Amino acid sequence: AKAEGRRCYHFYIPEMDAALQERMELDQAMRQALEQNEFHLVYQPRVELVTGRALSLEALVRWRHPQWGMVSPGRFIPLAEETGFILSLGPAILREACEQIRVWKARGVPTVPVAVNLSAREFREPGVVERILTVLAETGLDAGDLEIEITESAAMSSIDQTIRTLTELHGHGIRISIDDFGTAYSSLNYLKRLPVHAIKIDRSFVSDMEQDPANHPEDAAIIRAIIGLGETLGLKVIAEGIENTLQRDFLLDHGCVQGQGYLFSRPMPAEEVEHMLLHSKAL
Ligand code: C2E
Ligand code: CA
Ligand code: CA
Ligand code: CA
Repeated sequence: AKAEGRRCYHFYIPEMDAALQERMELDQAMRQALEQNEFHLVYQPRVELVTGRALSLEALVRWRHPQWGMVSPGRFIPLAEETGFILSLGPAILREACEQIRVWKARGVPTVPVAVNLSAREFREPGVVERILTVLAETGLDAGDLEIEITESAAMSSIDQTIRTLTELHGHGIRISIDDFGTAYSSLNYLKRLPVHAIKIDRSFVSDMEQDPANHPEDAAIIRAIIGLGETLGLKVIAEGIENTLQRDFLLDHGCVQGQGYLFSRPMPAEEVEHMLLHSKAL
């Protein structure tokens, strides 16, 4: 009867607005998709800007629905966060990423660390550190094989809890990056209290520069400020969304050494990553 009750939103309720109806359909489809293995991961290299060499990878989830085709994570991740489905999907993503690293290592592929995105809801879940450690242990990985990305807004929303969780992860040797940095207007005073390894300049600042940084003085100033902040606090700075050489060169000129973006590579399926790692291709 309980299962029945949970499904009652399938029935058409005339007064329910179309947007809500659509969200419920999407939520239901996500739950089925997990059972039917419709999710998979792709990996985007984070490169050393000057050489194009891959230093690490970011795992990104993909959903191929049998009728709708590819559904963007920008669409389903926020919904999964709201409905709590992320608490089922997130662990599956982490496990898949770790399992992939294990397979690469077993085949003698020279791996680089893989960063997994942890949503705010997952990060707040009690036992999150134990969950991560369990997956590492079960897949036989070292803490250094995995990195965690959490967004600035997630990190800053409950600062004391964030410090506790990150300190624990850090104590176990797991590196942490603050994602979408510069978008949450957080107090910089907090940043220095977080045991993080890197900050990622949000894509919006980089892509708004479009063709020429000179045309976007505010974005360029924010980027310079973030790079300076990283230097001062001893944090790595990773620029996201680099699509052209002007953006790359601007970043390099201002002392940013790492980045990711379509200029170097789109997110790739595991087989392509394996090929890249085996042939240590510069991108
Ligand atoms: P994000 O974590 O900030 O990921 C970066 C996004 O920028 C990815 O979009 C990536 O494909 C895209 N991107 C990378 N380089 C470029 C570029 O040069 N130009 C442009 N225009 N885009 C670029 P994607 O994969 O669609 O993911 C969107 C967002 O969905 C992610 O933003 C993240 O917030 C969320 N997401 C994706 N995968 C996962 C996941 O496995 N777990 C969680 N919790 N969230 C995820
Ligand atoms: Ca990310
Ligand atoms: Ca980001
Ligand atoms: Ca983002």
